[in-house]
Amino acid sequence: MLEIKNLFCSINNKEILKGVDFTINPGETHIIMGPNGSGKSTLASALSGKPGVILTSGSISIDGVDITKENPTKRANLGLFLAFQYPMEIPGVSLSNALRLAYNNKTYPTDQKLSPVKFRKYLKEKAEILGISDSFLERNLNEGASGGEKKKSEILQMLVLSPKYVILDEVDSGLDVDALKKVFGAIRDIGDVGDIGIVVITHYQRILKYITPDFVHIMVEGKIVKSGGSDLVQQIEEGGYQKIDVRE
Ligand code: ADP
Ligand code: MG
Repeated sequence: MLEIKNLFCSINNKEILKGVDFTINPGETHIIMGPNGSGKSTLASALSGKPGVILTSGSISIDGVDITKENPTKRANLGLFLAFQYPMEIPGVSLSNALRLAYNNKTYPTDQKLSPVKFRKYLKEKAEILGISDSFLERNLNEGASGGEKKKSEILQMLVLSPKYVILDEVDSGLDVDALKKVFGAIRDIGDVGDIGIVVITHYQRILKYITPDFVHIMVEGKIVKSGGSDLVQQIEEGGYQKIDVRE
């Protein structure tokens, strides 16, 4: 279980998260929606342990292990994975080498290492699922990549690492229809294979064509103000966030 309890968090002394409570069980799919600037990406960053995002109160735990003060590597080695809204560009490191390094250094779900040849075979299988070409694998990590290509790289990383909890921050923004199908096909596949807890942050109702959430949460001004089922997505599409009745 990924458990977030009464989380408060600041960036540059500005309080952004104001008491987030949120639990994700293995096998569940959650959607988080919310207006721009409501703190969705900050929540993702706080979970990943990104420097500069200061947790001032509350706790985060993965399968009973308190990670509130742990570094990103430790979190990843407990099976947590984040796909960032704005993936970094790293010149000088190819996507395939970056992924091989990440694979061979992880300890979750196993600490198995693969030789360059074996890793290449494994990587190609995963890349094919997403329609990523061999030449793209050899390009520098995200350098000059389109928005959609960067999102696919993040999802490829997810497939390669086989995490237990995945947080996907607007992976559906900037994708064409074919890429959307492939990306969400891959997300469904990993969800089907194991007992994975999935959190999808999105702005778009169309996401329901690709995944079936168990829960939908609305975040406003650093708090989850309402949780419910898929029908919440429809309500937002029709009436915007103002119309959401948070009293229930
Ligand atoms: P969302 O992902 O929901 O659109 P964010 O989590 O990106 O929202 O941002 C929440 C708030 O935090 C916004 O008001 C944003 O301007 C502020 N914020 C995010 N990063 C920084 C930063 N590095 N410095 C100052 N403010 C920031
Ligand atoms: Mg965001």
